Amino acid sequence: MSKEILYCNKCKKFTMKESCCDEKTISLKPAKYSPEDKYGKYRREFKKSISE
Ligand SMILES: [Zn+2]
Repeated sequence: MSKEILYCNKCKKFTMKESCCDEKTISLKPAKYSPEDKYGKYRREFKKSISE
């Protein structure tokens, strides 16, 4: 599975869509240039939510 997890900042929901609420969703992939993985928490929550 190589589907990207995306996040909508407007409705605070995870999605696989590239846009939500007429806004571009945020990729939860860790940024290579950043040592901080600020979306790691969201990714873990998402994985938890889809495995339940
Ligand atoms: Zn949304």
